[in-house]
Amino acid sequence: MNTEEKYEAEINSMDEYTYQWLPENYEDPSEPILKVTKSSLTTHLWCPKKYEFQYVERRPIDQTEAMKKGTIMHNAREDFFNAFDIKKAENMTTDEVIDYCSSLFPLDEYFDEYSHMAVFEAQRFVDARREGKIDEFLPVCNEGKFDCEIVIEANTDPKYPLRRDYKIHLQGIIDRIFQEESGYIPMEFKTGAWKDHKKTSMRKEMAFYQIMIENCSPTVLEKNGLQEGIPVSHWAWYYPISNHFFVEKIVKASKTSVFRSIARLIYAYENKEFPIKFYAPTCSHCSFFPICDEETWLM
Ligand code: SF4
Repeated sequence: MNTEEKYEAEINSMDEYTYQWLPENYEDPSEPILKVTKSSLTTHLWCPKKYEFQYVERRPIDQTEAMKKGTIMHNAREDFFNAFDIKKAENMTTDEVIDYCSSLFPLDEYFDEYSHMAVFEAQRFVDARREGKIDEFLPVCNEGKFDCEIVIEANTDPKYPLRRDYKIHLQGIIDRIFQEESGYIPMEFKTGAWKDHKKTSMRKEMAFYQIMIENCSPTVLEKNGLQEGIPVSHWAWYYPISNHFFVEKIVKASKTSVFRSIARLIYAYENKEFPIKFYAPTCSHCSFFPICDEETWLM
């Protein structure tokens, strides 16, 4: 079998998974296990009721301008890394590299954002070339899809003790993963504005990726251009609109925090409790505000 066929066989051998999960049927092997993604977990942390509306009841959410922008810019950045030709740029001057990077982005309404990104990537390329690390400029994985199964132990979070250990399915797309001497560096791309208070939640998002990479089988890693045994050493995020780029060594506590958040999500399913977490400034932008508001009044 080739890599693609081995990957398909591996994915098909995994248990079925769902957000419409019933923990009371866990002993039945024909029943699906719980699916957890970075977005679903973040939504549950943000507001359990919103999670229930969106993931358990599968109610549609409004498509906002920010979402549309996010999709277009993510595609543009993915295409940029697919198109960048190291050989072509190898002997260019810095200005030529900037022009070359700019030429790899589309001509659409996000021209200003792409200009920031072109300068940022050109500088990164020039720095890598000067340090003799040109081979580290391109990511080893560009928009890779990761699937794995992990076990969440009953006592993961003493505040939310579970009735048993549970196998769950983690799934997610990692924007990009770079490789340097010390290991892999997943890098998240965000199209919103950076605020310092986002640091803790960004660390949790990156720790979610770290857990996925560490628990994927060699076949899934290979499909995504990674090798077994190489650690995730750092993580990074990039907010071009705020010209904010940050990289740091992995923070162990963030991984523990992700496991606890998953335990809390399972606890919510066990107890069928998805309470409202009302916060006026953000609730007013929530797709479920009209129906949620109604429930608040009835309480
Ligand atoms: S309106 Fe607020 S409380 Fe209601 S579901 Fe949305 S985020 Fe939660």
